[in-house]
Amino acid sequence: MSGSSGTAAVVEATPVDSGPGAGDWAAAESLLRNLSPDARVLLICHVNPDGDALGSMLGFALGLRRLGVRAMQATFPGPPEVPVPFQGLPGLELLVPATEAYPDPDLVICFDAASESRLGELVDRLDTAGASLVLDHHASNTRFGGVNLVDPHAAATSVVAEQLLTRLGVGLDAGIAECLYVALTTDTGSFRFEATTPAVHHLAARLLATGIRPGDISRRVFDTRPFGAVRLFGEVLGRARLEPAPAGGRGLVWTWATLDDLARHDQRPYVLEALIDSVRCTAEADVSCVLKQTAPGEWAVSLRSKGAVDVSRVALALGGGGHRFAAGFTGRGTAEEVVDRIRGQLDDAVIPPAAP
Ligand code: AMP
Ligand code: MN
Ligand code: MN
Repeated sequence: MSGSSGTAAVVEATPVDSGPGAGDWAAAESLLRNLSPDARVLLICHVNPDGDALGSMLGFALGLRRLGVRAMQATFPGPPEVPVPFQGLPGLELLVPATEAYPDPDLVICFDAASESRLGELVDRLDTAGASLVLDHHASNTRFGGVNLVDPHAAATSVVAEQLLTRLGVGLDAGIAECLYVALTTDTGSFRFEATTPAVHHLAARLLATGIRPGDISRRVFDTRPFGAVRLFGEVLGRARLEPAPAGGRGLVWTWATLDDLARHDQRPYVLEALIDSVRCTAEADVSCVLKQTAPGEWAVSLRSKGAVDVSRVALALGGGGHRFAAGFTGRGTAEEVVDRIRGQLDDAVIPPAAP
């Protein structure tokens, strides 16, 4: 023991927001290295999957295949519809509808889900599986797995997935890299958000070195939408409302899209995911919000902040979750009623200025 001062040993508390410890990595590695040759592995990502959910899951699945895992399924709760921007992802052949997922896998691995509720009807697999492993980067993650690799400082779940693959000795190939690249670019807003650290760019460089084509990938994932969606966006953005008072005067901008809007323009719900990126540009508001109707009286709500408000607090208070500056929840009632509840939470969610 070094530095013997004669006083009692200081036990350092692990900060609640620290990443996985050595024991967590070792436990995860041991789960995967000790799989029997005929083990059935079920990979699940969160409901209404985004680029990080699908990309980290499929990239990791392709890595497991290289490791020799043969019986493997990838899935997510709800209708088995992959948003068009992600329909070119490698590994999609591993996807099965939730209704066909192994009822009692030997191992279940969850991706980008902060809590069990994000697994929808597949949540029972946490009990029926022989073992469970969680890979995620939400600070609010409830550590619902048997083994949890949760790094709130990671820009995307794909960062955690790549670290685990490296520890398992699985190198990157173009298929794995494309999946992880899509995950990394979607969650960092194409390397624009605060979480874009030097390590993120180092990872991007290693992914690109496999020969994947960033121009083609970005055009497919971010820059392509049907003409009907362009017109739908025009309508929905045209009805946006700007309110200067909420969030202690930092301002709120919001809009909504109904099922009828989608039907009139003959569009699928996934096209609405990109809407928040146009709304959050509004210079006069720190907080932006899009309500996407999912059923009569039910809305998938997206919240964003430019940095003055912790919108994950708002989302958590209203039954959802997310990150400090990007969060969401399911809202019930009319759009106006849901926004009223958001207004009611915003003042408390303003981030206090750092002490001088
Ligand atoms: P979105 O606005 O759908 O892009 O989601 C932004 C963030 O909020 C993501 O990190 C999601 O994980 C989280 N999120 C969105 N909707 C919900 C929900 N209903 N429950 C918990 N977290 C959510
Ligand atoms: Mn996600
Ligand atoms: Mn994510």
